[in-house]
Amino acid sequence: MIPIFAGPDVRSYLAAEKAGRLRLPRLCPACGGRLWGHGCCERGADETGPCGYQRIPVRRRPSSRCGRTASFLPSFLRPYQSLVSAARQRLYQGLRRGCRGGRWPPR
Ligand SMILES: [Zn+2]
Repeated sequence: MIPIFAGPDVRSYLAAEKAGRLRLPRLCPACGGRLWGHGCCERGADETGPCGYQRIPVRRRPSSRCGRTASFLPSFLRPYQSLVSAARQRLYQGLRRGCRGGRWPPR
């Protein structure tokens, strides 16, 4: 998985993806071969805000040389986790303040 910056949140990422403004690497990070267009898979993204949980497309491109497929994950998501970075930071700050429950997301 290769992180890409395409906005700080799900809404701006979806707008960039829909408009074709995602800037994806063209060379395979493993072998330097050319990456070609392939498609996408869906990932969960949980902002725990007004939009809540959404399924978002994640672009994928296989390498023409080694055959590995690179997935381009938005920078606000971590591999194998659906909670976006901003929500994770709010959770961490709430735990640091001693919040042990109650309202989610913590303010
Ligand atoms: Zn490769």
